[in-house]
Amino acid sequence: MHDPAVLRSMHLARFKAEPAIFAAPGRVNLIGEHTDYAEGFVMPAAIDFATLAAISRRSDGKVVIYSENFGKERVFEADALPPAANGHWSDYPLGVLSILAEEGHRIPGFSLCLWGDVPLGSGLSSSAAVEVATALAVLSLLGARYSGPALARFCQRAENEFVGANCGIMDQFISVNGEENHALLLDCRDLSYKLVPLPHDTALVIANTMVKHAVSGSEYTTRRAEVEDACAVIARHRPEVRFLRDATVEDLERWGAEMAPNALKRARHVITENQRTVAAAEALLRGDLAGTGRLMAAAHRSYSHDFEASCPEADAMVELAQDLPGLIGARLTGGGFGGCTINLVNRKDAPAFAERLAGRYEAQVGIRPEIHICRASGGARRVELGALTERS
Ligand code: ADP
Ligand code: MG
Repeated sequence: MHDPAVLRSMHLARFKAEPAIFAAPGRVNLIGEHTDYAEGFVMPAAIDFATLAAISRRSDGKVVIYSENFGKERVFEADALPPAANGHWSDYPLGVLSILAEEGHRIPGFSLCLWGDVPLGSGLSSSAAVEVATALAVLSLLGARYSGPALARFCQRAENEFVGANCGIMDQFISVNGEENHALLLDCRDLSYKLVPLPHDTALVIANTMVKHAVSGSEYTTRRAEVEDACAVIARHRPEVRFLRDATVEDLERWGAEMAPNALKRARHVITENQRTVAAAEALLRGDLAGTGRLMAAAHRSYSHDFEASCPEADAMVELAQDLPGLIGARLTGGGFGGCTINLVNRKDAPAFAERLAGRYEAQVGIRPEIHICRASGGARRVELGALTERS
């Protein structure tokens, strides 16, 4: 995380006002891919990359938002905020304001400085981090408090309804509710969750393939439709099955022949992925790291073969990690067709693991990957500068 004291100085120099500072982390999903919209399970962890938001009141009725990442400032009237997105980074904080206004809040004038070290657009959810940090900052001015799940929902709505990105609830939920040294098993049906300890001597090594294939948007839509088609076939026989969350492998064995071949494969991924995700949480809870690693490996195979959402670069990144010392489990994380792999690795081996994986990937694929050694971090919070100074 960037230094909040530096952000405070930046804010003071730019706006001549003492800010309150909030931090919201990015995330990585350990297991549970394309299960969220089937009302299934996901198991993300918040990571130690975060977006900071510094906020102070203004008395001139303006909303001024500065992003240090973009080096740009935008000025709006608090009582005439843009009603729609316009493809700009400010859509994300404006989306949060729009949802808070819909919830009946009167948006006051304020100055906001945003500064994050979550890599932008790499699948580590800088968008959720910026939304959650903004929401906490603005809510502090309003003196309003919401439960973690409600806050996550507002931020998801900002991204779905204002920005226009069709994301599930996972990113915002973990950014709000993450806990240090824990992953979080989230039931996307009712947002109930369980914290799952990650051993202190493990690291989350995130390896960016540096590719994102252009098909990802349209393929995402196709996959969702195939999953829904498969569910509809099962529901003809078992009307209580509303989402694949409710379906079983036995359902596929009985009625799979009525599905298009691709729908059957996609459904097999989703149904077995739900089982693997719950099983991975149970394995971690009983300290069975080898079992967790096997489930991650099976999840990657299913994602690549049945869901067909991997790509040669991501398959290579997973394959090249297999015999490196310290690896517990590796798989492609995120929406698919590129992006990052998540490697659960013994912490003492992580630096050498990262270096060797980068070397192997570059030699085979011809691209130098970015590899981040992360730990599971706490969720969004107010940053007390006094406390930071005392500790440092
Ligand atoms: P991801 O969430 O995987 O990083 P997205 O495309 O969903 O990728 O979101 C990235 C976008 O979020 C950026 O292009 C930018 O518009 C916005 N964003 C993220 N962090 C910041 C920041 N610190 N300042 C301004 N905008 C940000
Ligand atoms: Mg995002």
